[in-house]
Amino acid sequence: MIHFNIPAYVGTELDYMKTAIQNNKICGNGNFTKRCNQWLENHTKTQKSILTTSCTHSLELASILCEIRAGDEVIMPSYTFVSTANAFVLRGAKIVFVDIRPDTMNINEQLIESAITHRTKAIVPVHYAGVSCEMDKIMQIAKKYNLYVIEDAAQAIMSTYKDKALGIFGDFGCLSFHETKNYSMGEGGSLLINNDRFIERAEIISEKGTNRNLFLRGQVDKYTWVDIGSSYIPSELNAAYLWGQLENAEKINQNRLESWNLYHEELHELSEKGMIERPTVPKNCSHNAHMYYIKVRDINQRTELIAYLKQNGISSVFHYVPLHSAPAGLRFGEFHGEDRFTTKESERLLRLPMYFGLQKDEIHYIVNKINHFFT
Ligand SMILES: *Cc1c(COP(=O)(O)O)cnc(C)c1O
Repeated sequence: MIHFNIPAYVGTELDYMKTAIQNNKICGNGNFTKRCNQWLENHTKTQKSILTTSCTHSLELASILCEIRAGDEVIMPSYTFVSTANAFVLRGAKIVFVDIRPDTMNINEQLIESAITHRTKAIVPVHYAGVSCEMDKIMQIAKKYNLYVIEDAAQAIMSTYKDKALGIFGDFGCLSFHETKNYSMGEGGSLLINNDRFIERAEIISEKGTNRNLFLRGQVDKYTWVDIGSSYIPSELNAAYLWGQLENAEKINQNRLESWNLYHEELHELSEKGMIERPTVPKNCSHNAHMYYIKVRDINQRTELIAYLKQNGISSVFHYVPLHSAPAGLRFGEFHGEDRFTTKESERLLRLPMYFGLQKDEIHYIVNKINHFFT
């Protein structure tokens, strides 16, 4: 069986976890957490990374920091994971879904402005498959209407737009280190804070509403309850695992890119024949090979192809059911404008096996079977 995903493991993770145990430091904010945050700050070139328990929690933190309240509206694509919406629904916001572009499956930046009302508080671009949204245009709109931008960069670590890391264009960038992402700590994430006026409050909220961090740094002499908050800091054991991966970030990235490029080359012919479409990476973007997907004719053909691949020992999966058509999406959101591409394109999309260590001959085999299905 060729799995759809195998969590990355480079070999040093277990030793680092042992070190954390031997140091008698397994709760949060120890040496490994600090190293991971520093690496993320250096790599993305932003001021502050807070390692969190998930990207879901990073989004929630951002939502609290933006002071999203009942009645506020937040604009995002419908083709995304539930957490993108839930983080704002939890604060009482209404979600305004905007159609996607069929080429990248990202929010159509041209449709955002018409969805803005006097209640709009934030825009949440999602960098699908680690390919960037049109950030220049989105930031220009945000500036014009004085809106927050929270980038859902869960899939996008190591990707760039105009040579800058994704996650540092908006006020906040939210990364994921879930086991299905390029780098993992089991469950985890990071909140990148690009606007320094939020840093102090972010530390307080992520430390259960206390000024523990200021206290540890000697900036205040009492450790006390100062704000709302929750427990958003991961264990050192998880951070130690992640550190092993971040140290090898380039190696993992190169390996994934090789697999992505091989799929892309080998599926060229089928795409030339018009049987499938391959992913598009716009000119200003470099991506991280988070995902390799193809698009087939329609949902029926996709169902048949998934079954055919499964019979041949290959696990392939579809992705999001658009949020606006889900039960909670109907309650908490509304689609603005016409759904030209969100539903149609989401039904055509099929994700192929992609992980660190996927073998070349496995990719040959997968492409062979796909070719065979279409002949
Ligand atoms: C994975 C993912 C999330 C959630 O990440 P967790 O770390 O599992 O909470 C959110 N948004 C997108 C686009 C994702 O792909």
